[in-house]
Amino acid sequence: MVSVRKIGTTTEEKNKMIEHGEKVIRIKVPYKLASRAFHHQDSVIKVGHHFIGNGSLTAIAGPCCIESREQLFTIAAAVKSAGAKILRGGAFKPRTSPYSFQGMGEEGLKLLREAGDKFDMPVCTELMSTEDFDLVDTYTDIIQIGARNMQNYSLLKKVGQTQKPVLLKRGMSATIEEFLMSAEYIMASGNPNVILCERGIRTFESYTRNTLDLAVVCAIKELSHLPILIDPSHATGRWEMIEPISKAAVAVGCDGLMIEVHHEPENALSDGPQSLKPEKFARLMTNIQRVHFACVETDEIESVAKKHAAI
Ligand code: PEP
Ligand code: MN
Repeated sequence: MVSVRKIGTTTEEKNKMIEHGEKVIRIKVPYKLASRAFHHQDSVIKVGHHFIGNGSLTAIAGPCCIESREQLFTIAAAVKSAGAKILRGGAFKPRTSPYSFQGMGEEGLKLLREAGDKFDMPVCTELMSTEDFDLVDTYTDIIQIGARNMQNYSLLKKVGQTQKPVLLKRGMSATIEEFLMSAEYIMASGNPNVILCERGIRTFESYTRNTLDLAVVCAIKELSHLPILIDPSHATGRWEMIEPISKAAVAVGCDGLMIEVHHEPENALSDGPQSLKPEKFARLMTNIQRVHFACVETDEIESVAKKHAAI
């Protein structure tokens, strides 16, 4: 990343900088740090020994919420053996109803850390409030900011004060520009390690839980250097759609997927209908790798063809 002295200058300041021989880059979009005009190369985010956005496909998988040691460890073992790189699990859950299970809190975070260490996987969990920052930060490798908090600016500024990777989910009614402006908040506060995640937006359609905006991947790749993941679980709300939608997401060029997995979806305390059973998740992992290889191969053939054409 270029070293920056000032972002967002007045014309007067700009002219002074030019007079003093400083390099001034004009970035016309309001999301300066997140824009590709500012940083041409794709950003690669390091999480433990793993890299997100380097051309490989990252699967983040695990239960919607951590329910017990037995539940989490069973699912963690399964997603690890299927090839997931990062373990997810909510300990603080943003539930529509205050009467629904709200998550295990610190006890859940401890279990998540223990499972991550046991199965050698970095872990990702949601932070809902600035008050819980220190607690969540102690146990997690990636801090997730959920759709409902995408425009919680004090929370964005708070996670901007660490260098820990932040998984920022798109708000359910957020435009692409608003999505990138939220990333900008985190980056402007000092944290460049932002991973975007599309999880479907609210439309008039109610058959699926949300409407997945797959075109956002192409838009983000053009407008920004940040990696983008797709969450087909919250986007569709239906387990039978997860594999086909994941294949489409990979074909369109996302950097990875976030998928909810549960060994007993019918007994899950949250989001059972969209959770994949371990064997279905394993099949999905094999099949999305095939799509990914086909895409990489196509890109290679294209670049070789271009080279030959240039000779
Ligand atoms: C989640 O990933 O657990 C979650 C609650 O997702 P979202 O914020 O996208 O609804
Ligand atoms: Mn969920």
